[in-house]
Order: sequence, then structure tokens, then C-alpha cells
Amino acid sequence: MLVIGGGLAGLASAVALAEAGWKVQLLEKRPHLGGRATSYTLPDGNEVDNCQHVTLGCCTNLADFYHRAGAADKVRFYDELYFADRAGRRYAIKAGALPPPLHMAPSFAFFSALRFADKRGVAKAMLAIARAGGKPPDIEKLSMLDWLRRLRQTPAAINRFWRVVLTSALDEELDRTDARYGIDVFWKAFLANREGYRVGIPSVPLAELYEGCREAVTSRGGEVKLRCGVREVRLRDGAFSCALFEDGTEVAADACVVAVPHMALMELLPKEMFEAEGPLAGLQSLRTSPITGVHFWFDRKVMNEPFLALIDHTTQWIFNKTFLYSGSRAPQPVHKAEEPDESKAAAPAGQYLQLVISASYDLVAKSRQEIVDLCRAELAEILPATKGAQLLKATVIKEINATFSPQPEVDSFRPKQKLDVRKLFLAGDWTQTGWPATMEGAVRSGYLAAEALLADRGQPRKVLQPDLPYEGFSKRWAEKQKPRAR
Ligand SMILES: Cc1cc2nc3c(=O)[nH]c(=O)nc-3n(C[C@H](O)[C@H](O)[C@H](O)COP(=O)(O)OP(=O)(O)OC[C@H]3O[C@@H](n4cnc5c(N)ncnc54)[C@H](O)[C@@H]3O)c2cc1C
Repeated sequence: MLVIGGGLAGLASAVALAEAGWKVQLLEKRPHLGGRATSYTLPDGNEVDNCQHVTLGCCTNLADFYHRAGAADKVRFYDELYFADRAGRRYAIKAGALPPPLHMAPSFAFFSALRFADKRGVAKAMLAIARAGGKPPDIEKLSMLDWLRRLRQTPAAINRFWRVVLTSALDEELDRTDARYGIDVFWKAFLANREGYRVGIPSVPLAELYEGCREAVTSRGGEVKLRCGVREVRLRDGAFSCALFEDGTEVAADACVVAVPHMALMELLPKEMFEAEGPLAGLQSLRTSPITGVHFWFDRKVMNEPFLALIDHTTQWIFNKTFLYSGSRAPQPVHKAEEPDESKAAAPAGQYLQLVISASYDLVAKSRQEIVDLCRAELAEILPATKGAQLLKATVIKEINATFSPQPEVDSFRPKQKLDVRKLFLAGDWTQTGWPATMEGAVRSGYLAAEALLADRGQPRKVLQPDLPYEGFSKRWAEKQKPRAR
């Protein structure tokens, strides 16, 4: 059995197939596993994530995958979400004792970045989502911004709340986001279950999360080959025939899961498949959006919190990597920018921060220095200690085609994992999963491809994990919607 591509989709497929008793040959072009969600060592010896990756409590398949890979204890979950505004003021949101969807309401009531009228509008929109069991009517072809305007959200609520959460969750601007995707984020993460919003952050560099995958494959007689790029996937008589390596050699197999990014797929499969009548024609319409990661190493401690989401800034998130890697407990919530207490510093020698800007269209043409200057100016507002600190090193990583854009009607462009070509299966965050381009989406696609392949081989098996159960009023309201959905 061949799996081409060692990102999360390929790894999830490979591990599930190996566990089902198949000898898997996993072929990855690069020298490391993990694809876009990986880390590597810079020439100076610092190991950096390609970009900070976070998961949420509602990502049940990714959690299952980490468990299978023996990496679950390397991801730490935080119960409190920390925000900061232009004046450096801090806000924290967390679940309380009320049943969903009301569990975040008391905390949100004190979210003073918004005025009463803004919050009343947000509460009405949340209720509209929850009462419809996550599926409000008449949203087809609508952008998230259109839906928010339909619900009369104030400009402050749009900019200081909806945009803050959704741009980073979906890597797209609100006017280019399918309303279904935006609504789904709030339903799954904040309304349906009290655990859904919890933020999970790896406490090790990303590549370390995948060490167990190699073992899962090789211990069952399979093989993981790195630096092994596939140049072509050949079909014969409507079925997968073999893969051709970059050095010209061929490998045949009983079946093949191709788990490369959609743009790379176009190089591998016959081009007729992507033409107007072809089964993959929709991929020509799939757009991509950029993410920029900025890594700063300061000579001293400049930040107390484990992470911060920023309101009214270009920078959307700051991650305190020194803290996140330290294994320390999250500090007590803070309500204003505080001078860091050096005596409690996890690494007194300095601090490593990573900043993330999703849908970073405005930064694509900017130089490294312009981006560094912009981010430093913003840090000075949020973390005053950075003003007196020396910046020892800065790295900017621009991912121009970071993820597919969740544009309105995007699902009509995404192919299923099983095509009409026998023995050939697709996986990748861009295939039909119902999820946006996330690690959870990638793992789901890998599990779905494995399920399709196993069913095809007469070995049907459930691999995909269920969503978190709906709770409280959300459960009751979602159940009421069921007869209508039939
Ligand atoms: C900057 C950035 C930040 C992100 N942040 C988050 C986040 O915080 N949370 C989240 O959930 N998601 C995040 N994502 C999205 C997430 O990384 C992806 O959705 C997910 O990793 C995609 O996995 P994949 O396996 O589908 O694709 P990929 O990770 O792209 O894997 C495809 C693999 O195929 C290999 N390959 C390509 N061509 C060939 C070939 N010819 N032969 C052999 N191998 C080949 C590639 O080298 C790669 O390893 C982020 C993405 C980026 C880029």
C-alpha cells in the first residue's frame, strides 16, 4: 500500500492503514514528516515551527491521531483565552458553570473590549446559531460578512470580535469566507460543548509530534521513506498502476493514497483529470491565502502570558514559545500589561516569541525588515518591556499558499477521497471533509481515505471519530432541527 505525502493527511492514513494490518510504504519528498505542520532547525541551531499551530477541544480526530502517534501528552490545553487591545489592556474568556450554549456568557459579559450594544448584538447572533443547531437558514452562497450584516452586528463587534476569532481560525477575511464555515467555528468551538473552545498548543517543536508515526508503520512491516519525491502517478485501464520517483524508478502497489497539497497533485496526475469535464476540475477554482509567521528572540523576558490574541492590530497572535516549551503551568490571568517578573522567568537568559498573521495579504509584498519593524511597533504597545529589550534575532516566514481559502461555495470545488479511478484515493485538507484547512481537516481526510480504501478491499472499518457531543440547551435545540433536516 502506498501513501504519497507525509503531512498530517498522509500520516493519518498511513497509521490507520498500518493499524488495520497493511504494510504501508510512506513516501515523503522532504527530509522531515509533518508537511506544513512541522518544524526544522535553522542554520544557527534554533529549531522553529514552520508556523505556530494550535488545535481546539472540538478537533476530535486530531486528538485521536496524537493519541495513536503517542504524542497526546505533548499537547497542552489551556482553559482561558487571553486577549489584548491597543492600549495594552488584557481580557480573558473562559467557560463557567452554565450549560452550553451559555457557558461562555458570564465571561463574555465582562469582555470590556466591546460596549453593551456590541455585546447584545453578538449574543443575539450566537443565540441564532445555537437555536438552529449550528445550521441557520438561508446562508448558501453568503459570505460571513454578509451574514453578520444581516444580523445587524455593529462595526466594533465585527472588527473587535468576529474578525479576531475568524481570520486566524480560517485564514481568510470575513468578506471572502463562506458563512457556513464562520458559523461552524462558533458552533463547534463555543456553543455546542463546553470543551470545544479549549486551546491546545504543542509543548515541543512540531516535528517531535510525529516520531510515533514512523514506529506505527515500521513495526507492522511497512516503511517510511524521506527525501523521496514522486514525479508521476500512473493510471492504467481506469485504475492506479504505479508511482514514478524523481530518479525515474517505479513502484507498484495494491492501492495508493495521494496526500499531497492540491497544487502538487496537479503535477502528479494526468492533466485531463483537471480539465473542464474531469473529476478534479473544481481544484482549478480553489484559491489559497497566505500566513506570515514572525519569530523574535529577545535578550530578556518580555511577556508573562502563554499567548495573546490581539485586537485592532495587524499581528493577530503572540505565542510565548519559551513559556510554552517550559512545561510550566499557565500564570494567573492578568488584566493589564505588566512588567514581567524576572524572578519567575522560565528561561532568564531571554525569551522567544512567535507572532502569527493569517490572511496576511498586505504583508506579501513587504520586505522582511518592514514586517519586523511593524511587528516590533505593535509589540511595544502590547508588551512594553520589549521597548528596552534587545532583539537578538528575527526570522520572518511567509507562506504564500498557506491554506485553501474557505471562499463562498468552496465545498463544490473539493473532491471526495474516493474517485472513479480504482485503487486510487485522495487525502489532504483540501478534500471533502466539511472542515476548513486545518490539522483536524487534514487528519479527517486521511481517516476518510483509509476508510474508503479498507471498504474497497472488503475490510470496512470505522476510523473517523465523532464530534464532541452536543450538551445542554444546544443539544436540545440541535435535536429539534433533525426532523427539519430530513
Ligand atoms: C503557516 C501555517 C499556519 C497554520 N496554522 C494552523 C493552525 O494553527 N491550526 C491548524 O489546525 N492548522 C493550521 N494550518 C493548516 C495546517 O497546517 C494544514 O491544514 C495541514 O497541515 C495540512 O496537512 P496536509 O497533510 O493536508 O498537507 P501538507 O501538510 O501540505 O502535506 C503534504 C505533504 O506532501 C509532500 N509532498 C508534496 N509533493 C510530493 C511529492 N511529489 N512526493 C512526495 N511527497 C510530496 C509535502 O512535502 C508534504 O509533506 C496552518 C498552515 C500554515 C501553512
